[in-house]
Amino acid sequence: MHCTKCGSVKFRISRMKPSDFMKLITFRFPVRCRICNRRRFVPLSTAIGIQKADSARHQELRKSKPTSSATLPTTAGNAGQ
Ligand SMILES: [Zn+2]
Repeated sequence: MHCTKCGSVKFRISRMKPSDFMKLITFRFPVRCRICNRRRFVPLSTAIGIQKADSARHQELRKSKPTSSATLPTTAGNAGQ
């Protein structure tokens, strides 16, 4: 799968909007290009693959970083919603 705008193959799962409902009932899920932020819809199987790659990447980041004694409050990542 390539981005139709910039040709990137890097995507992440996009947030759902109420207007996505009609797409969701046809099993198409919103994803967003990591490079140009273009939003598009992909089949469920593709979305699952993106989700898995995403969580695998997060786990790798956690492993590679040495655990610090200072833990940030969990609310810090949710700011701006
Ligand atoms: Zn793009």
